[in-house]
Amino acid sequence: MTLREGLSVSEFLLYFAAVGGFTTWIGGILDGFGRLYENSLDLSMLREYLEFPEPFLFEEGESVAQYAADCSAEICLELKNVSFRYPEAKEDVLHHINLLIKPGEKLAIVGLNGAGKTTLVKLLCGFYDPTEGEVLFCGKDVRNLNRREYYSLFSAVFQDFSVLEVTLAENVAQTDGDMDMARVKDCIEKAGLTERIESLPAGYETHIGRKVYEDGIELSGGEMQRLMLARALYKNAPVIVLDEPTAALDPLAEHDIYQKYNAMTGARTSIYISHRLASTRFCDRIIYLKKGKITESGTHEELLRANGEYACLFKVQSKYYGEERWEKKYS
Ligand code: ADP
Repeated sequence: MTLREGLSVSEFLLYFAAVGGFTTWIGGILDGFGRLYENSLDLSMLREYLEFPEPFLFEEGESVAQYAADCSAEICLELKNVSFRYPEAKEDVLHHINLLIKPGEKLAIVGLNGAGKTTLVKLLCGFYDPTEGEVLFCGKDVRNLNRREYYSLFSAVFQDFSVLEVTLAENVAQTDGDMDMARVKDCIEKAGLTERIESLPAGYETHIGRKVYEDGIELSGGEMQRLMLARALYKNAPVIVLDEPTAALDPLAEHDIYQKYNAMTGARTSIYISHRLASTRFCDRIIYLKKGKITESGTHEELLRANGEYACLFKVQSKYYGEERWEKKYS
């Protein structure tokens, strides 16, 4: 139009700029919608989290504080006809489990992957309620107890632990306030990490991870396991739960850690999950879990004599780890 129909240059510039401005304006609105959508997704996750129905009783439940404070308390845990199905799963993971854990007992739960070992222990710790049956603490249904106090009965090390990007000492004590530094050092010593930590320039004040603090360190899988052991020791609860604590360790370190566990648990009730059967030989009782059912139960020697699946698995593992002495004894 400017060339042929006499539209002035100034008008041309005006319209040209207006079209450009309009395009940018529309683009901005569309961008805004995009951001709004992203933020609303984040916000809906937060709302879902905040509005998640709380299935457990806390302060309104019956108190168990008198046991929580006392490591030598006679704590008796029982699973009575317990079945469990994860929400939206098609099948039960555990089927009609009956298990009485006596005060001070050292119990091992063994079995193949997916047998339901972790689920069973998480039910005992009160992370889930059974779909059928009851979890009893000293004869009382855990559903009626103050769950926060019930949690304080357990020093548990699970495979999926969380480490915060704070100092080593704070990770052990799980607090940034009232920390008993002498106890932190003692627990780290017992877990066999003192040498590693004291060789660091900032020692116990070293930060873990590099996402928050640039001077943080990354620990190896085995060192992390030891740190979790120190954390469990610091908590000093009456029941110790260890879920495959040695998965990231070499056999020598594994032997060392089990010796430490054995020494530290003393008279306390302890529950070990392990896929390496040699590690849990020292336990008072071993239960073999298969597809959500307890199929064998007894001491290591009794289970070997029974010559069932436990014995078979132990034999295979003994060959693998070069521990064939037992064959001479039991064959
Ligand atoms: P184990 O400790 O013996 O390896 P688990 O208790 O971890 O066995 O798992 C038993 C079964 O439950 C597996 O089939 C697993 O896929 C399933 N399972 C475990 N956790 C969940 C979960 N959070 N949601 C749904 N299914 C799960």
